[in-house]
Amino acid sequence: KPYLELQGLSKSYDGRTRALDGVDLTAAKGEFITFLGPSGSGKTTTLMLIAGFEAASAGEILVDGAPITRVPPHKRGIGIVFQNYALFPHRTALGNVMFPLEMRKVPKTQAVEKARAMLALVGLERLAERHPREMSGGQQQRVALARALVFDPALLLLDEPLGALDKNLREQLQIEIKRIQRSLGVTTIFVTHDQSEAMAMSDRIVVFEGGRIQQAGTPLEIYNRP
Ligand code: ADP
Ligand code: ADP
Repeated sequence: KPYLELQGLSKSYDGRTRALDGVDLTAAKGEFITFLGPSGSGKTTTLMLIAGFEAASAGEILVDGAPITRVPPHKRGIGIVFQNYALFPHRTALGNVMFPLEMRKVPKTQAVEKARAMLALVGLERLAERHPREMSGGQQQRVALARALVFDPALLLLDEPLGALDKNLREQLQIEIKRIQRSLGVTTIFVTHDQSEAMAMSDRIVVFEGGRIQQAGTPLEIYNRP
């Protein structure tokens, strides 16, 4: 039984053209799926619909068999990291990671403990008291990842989280994200237009083209196809 299911998902922003045109997709629990495809092919739109930041024009999204199309974003239990999804500048790393727990009224001591554990998981326990401006881009994205994971989300959405980083750092963080995702077993959708990144990280690659899924398969299947 699939954990995440997209059924005939479509989106039009202007009422005429379709940014997304009848996307069907399933993801198993714990699966790491990468959306690959050129700019404008519908990858981000699909994430926005899953996250609930945009409303679908047609179709349905199911998590664990239940439709979430009418569930507001903050109640979907989805962790999100975007390329430019900025940290709160006035909060420390720890304060940023604690934020989702504060929203959920988790008691302070428990929230601090959980947030510190997440910072340790992303390798930043020693930078807990730093503000974003005192951290590198890679460190900031680690904080963003910790913040996205701190409330044990059912789903993790990563939209080009490494896009702003240089090549060495990208490769290092690819491995780390993979390790963390595996250790938590969180179902993950990762958006990139970098083919080698998709090959290295994914259980399955979904290739978008013009708002549709052009092909889908394991990295080997995609790679060996003409
Ligand atoms: P990417 O290709 O990396 O997804 P874009 O530069 O296409 O990013 O888009 C950046 C932001 O602008 C996104 O939030 C997207 O939803 C929005 N956007 C993209 N195209 C349009 C458009 N034609 N009109 C309004 N907003 C758009
Ligand atoms: P990708 O993430 O693959 O780059 P997007 O999902 O951002 O693609 O964009 C798909 C299509 O929808 C593009 O034609 C883009 O211009 C359009 N689009 C995206 N976001 C918006 C928006 N907020 N308003 C209007 N058009 C948008």
